[in-house]
Order: sequence, then structure tokens, then C-alpha cells
Amino acid sequence: MLIIDGKKVSLDLKEELKTGVETYRKATGKVPGLTVIIVGHDPASQVYVRNKAKTCKEIGMFSTVIEMPSDTTQAELLEKIQELNNDPAVHGILVQQPLPKQIDEFAVTIAIDPAKDVDGFHPENLGRLVMGELDKCFVSCTPYGILELLGRYNIETKGKHCVVVGRSNIVGKPMANLMLQKSDATNCTVTICHSATKNIPHYTLQADILIAAIGKAGFITADMVKPGAVVIDVGINRIEDPSTKSGYRLVGDVDFEGVSAIASAMTPVPGGVGPMTIAMLLKNTLHSFQRINGL
Ligand code: NDP
Repeated sequence: MLIIDGKKVSLDLKEELKTGVETYRKATGKVPGLTVIIVGHDPASQVYVRNKAKTCKEIGMFSTVIEMPSDTTQAELLEKIQELNNDPAVHGILVQQPLPKQIDEFAVTIAIDPAKDVDGFHPENLGRLVMGELDKCFVSCTPYGILELLGRYNIETKGKHCVVVGRSNIVGKPMANLMLQKSDATNCTVTICHSATKNIPHYTLQADILIAAIGKAGFITADMVKPGAVVIDVGINRIEDPSTKSGYRLVGDVDFEGVSAIASAMTPVPGGVGPMTIAMLLKNTLHSFQRINGL
């Protein structure tokens, strides 16, 4: 069974992006800039935001983090976003979720200039993805990272049946729409399953490519997988494990041990899809820089 090594691919990709950033810096004197806004003090969000800023700096991009207090009003946040929309040094804007209760996430998503929406959450970007305008939109980083992994491992997709379990706006829906596109890298027949789907194994057993984005540890077991399938595990779940120093460990939505005995290729958790998400955020930021500067 082939392990699809997202950690390695993300490192290769970051090296390529670093070279790209340096080339543009020499040619134009400018570098791509990503600004992340964090509202409140959620500890997990602070770790994610720090990692994003650190990785930006590693590849030579300009990165700023704007920290706003937890009692920030929606109007204050929207004003800050507007400032960044108008700032020519900022090519990517990201507002870390979750947001405090007084702020409507959708209002924030649509306030970001679609041309700087490197998360790919804006309806214009999602709409362009659905319409197949991939070179004119930003694709949500996790599905985009999965596509990159499939491409780099030469996984055949044309005419294959791809089953996506999960229909969130940030993973399941864009993933399914991506795999449906008429292109050499996709062109799948696509089925989407969710919590109201009856008899999920009936669908997953037909999958040549099975993508699990559910958020339930070990949900996909070996008896739900067709022998030889390619299995992509998006889930990140914390489970108790007294044998570890922290008392917990991270597992995916797929029972790795059971499924790895019958799949032809699989992403591990950790080290599969996860590391690709930040790398694709930087790739989107570089694309934004190229588009804004006509490069
Ligand atoms: P959401 O909670 O937004 O969506 C989960 C989806 O799974 C929903 O569509 C839900 O269905 C479906 N679902 C839940 N229970 C079942 C069930 N019993 N049977 C079938 N479908 C079910 O999660 P996300 O999409 O944001 O994330 C999914 C997982 O991926 C999480 O573990 C998350 O941590 C991880 N993740 C990992 C990332 C990475 O970088 N590796 C990035 C983003 C997420 P319904 O719509 O009917 O409620």
C-alpha cells in the first residue's frame, strides 16, 4: 500500500514557492503579503495563526497578524477588512474562525475582496469553482491540497468514481465540485454522502477514490472500502491515549490499520492532508500576487 506523504509534498511545495517568491522579488522588488486577522483568544486559533505567519516568513512572504479583542463589533471587523482590501501590499486576507458570537461569519466572508480571498470561502470564488473557472478563482485550501496530492502521486482520476463523505462549505462541497470538473486532473463521477444518507457503505464500497471529511474518529472501516481504493483522510480528531505524554493523540476519520490492509493508497493522520492546507494557502497567496501585479 502506498502512503501518500503530505508532509513531504508540502515541504517540496514550500521550496518551490520560496523560489517563486525570490524570483518575483528580484524582478519587481515586491513580495506577496498575507494578513491574518484573529478575533479573541481561542488558544487553538492562536497556534494556527502563528503557524501560518511563521510559514509565510520561511518562504520569504510578508506576513502580518492583526489581533482584535473578543468584544470587537462586527462593524469594527468589517472596517478593518475594508482597509486591507484597499492596501496594495496585502494580497491575501484571512479571518481565522471561529469568530465570537456577536459577529456573523457570512457577513465577514462576503466583506473580503474575492481577489484577496485566499481561503476561497467567498461565494464568488465558490461559484467560479462550480462553473469550472479554476484559473480565475481561489479554491479552498484543504480540497486544493488534496488535488495537489493526487496529482503529484499520479493517481488516475478520469472516469473514476469519487465518493466524498461530508458536505461542509470549506471541505466537502468544494472537494466534490473540484473532482467533478472537466479536466485531466479531475473528471470523476462524484457522489456526496452526509449525515442523512441512508446506507453509507452502499456508496463508499463503490468508491475508486474515497474522501472522508466527517470529523468522527475511525468512522470509515475496512468493510466500507472497495479493495484497491485510494483513500484520503481529511479528519483530525483528538482521542484519549494515556500512553502519550499529552494524554491524547490525533487520528483521522478512517480506521488506518484496517483500511490500509485493503486500500491501494492512503493518506496518514497526521502527515497527510493536514500539512498541505497551509502550503496551499501560500500557493493561493502567490497566485493572488501574480494576478494583482499582472505577472
Ligand atoms: P463539519 O463538521 O463542518 O462537516 C462534517 C460533515 O460530515 C457534515 O457534512 C456532516 O453531515 C457529515 N457527517 C457528520 N456525521 C456524519 C455521519 N455520521 N455520517 C455521514 N456524514 C456525517 O466539518 P469540516 O468539513 O470542517 O471538517 C471535517 C473534518 O476534517 C474534521 O475532523 C476537521 O477537523 C477536519 N479538517 C481538516 C483539515 C485539514 O487541514 N486536514 C481542514 C479542515 C477540516 P451534515 O452536513 O448532514 O451535518
